[in-house]
Amino acid sequence: MDAVVLEEAGSPRLVDRPRPDPAPGEVLVRIDRVGVDGTDREVVAGAHGRVESSMVLGHEAVGTVADPNGTAFEPGETVVPTVRRPPGDHNEYFRRGEPDMAPMDATVECGIDGADGFMAEFVAVPSEYLLRLPERLAPAGFLVEPLSVTAKALELVEASREPFTWERNRALVLGTGSLGLLTLPVLDDRFEEVYCLGRRDRDDPAVQLAESVGATYVDSRETAVDDVPGAHAPMDLVVEATGHAPHAAESVAALAPNGVAALLGVPTDHEAPVELGELHRELVVGNRALIGSVNAGYSHFEQAVEWLDALPASVVDAFTEHVYPLAEFEAALDRDVIKTAVELDP
Ligand code: NDP
Repeated sequence: MDAVVLEEAGSPRLVDRPRPDPAPGEVLVRIDRVGVDGTDREVVAGAHGRVESSMVLGHEAVGTVADPNGTAFEPGETVVPTVRRPPGDHNEYFRRGEPDMAPMDATVECGIDGADGFMAEFVAVPSEYLLRLPERLAPAGFLVEPLSVTAKALELVEASREPFTWERNRALVLGTGSLGLLTLPVLDDRFEEVYCLGRRDRDDPAVQLAESVGATYVDSRETAVDDVPGAHAPMDLVVEATGHAPHAAESVAALAPNGVAALLGVPTDHEAPVELGELHRELVVGNRALIGSVNAGYSHFEQAVEWLDALPASVVDAFTEHVYPLAEFEAALDRDVIKTAVELDP
């Protein structure tokens, strides 16, 4: 079968691999589509994750059950695989059903960190790591995984503000990449005002999509993150989705008292002088919170399916506009558009 593997940073290849033989408890899944995000590009560049000798790329997948192999699945069901697996036997995080809370040495991540991903014609997936998806959502099913990342982050945000009356009026998303843009419609349902900060011109399709879901665009070349309160208003929530390290500290400066910033981007090393006293003070005297969040658990995937179903059709269209056949996977990895995906079985 065909699979896209990474053996050497910068050089993903289409190779022939044996079709997997599902072990007891595993389902054979025919992969239909695999989304590509910033993490995939970072993995290909060698800036994120871990490739032992060869790794199948792709972690945002939707597929069809080819062989249930004695599990509770039915042939032909549309399914989405989760991303994390135990590195050996199940450890305490997986036993508790909280793989997303495992430290990086207690998990592997399919297509990212130490385990084969899903950009292959067939994959064998333990049934507990598969989620059913209504068939009508299949064309955009690769968006479940990134939406699950937002679902987890927002759950942590809510939990951190749960003990008091959180007056949540304004939210700001940093980044006009696929994760940031997908987060906007979710926030639009929960906040009175939603802002999106990026560094693109106003006629860029990503900016237009942000505005189409009701977000006010903030051009970071005109207004820096920490100037947002002065130029617009202090934010009750900031969701950082760039991986640009200075945004961590700047997010705190953009927060209203009692506000919370959720960091999702994964930065490379970055040295910069930071006025730590002010950062520390603003967090403490303003009851502000800074939260990091990675990956997602099964319940977040379930939430993501609901959110996918509720996405405006125009957003789904924009996110499924650039789907490439497997033979053109390099275009999907390279192209700078709202979202790309690879189709394995057109
Ligand atoms: P994209 O590559 O699609 O988007 C990245 C965004 O960050 C773009 O808006 C880009 O701007 C902006 N950006 C990149 N570098 C800078 C910079 N130096 N200064 C300002 N803006 C910058 O990635 P995704 O949306 O898929 O993911 C965003 C981040 O989140 C990545 O770091 C990714 O690894 C991480 N991620 C984390 C997850 C988690 O579980 N925590 C899950 C998925 C992703 P432009 O396009 O204009 O260059």
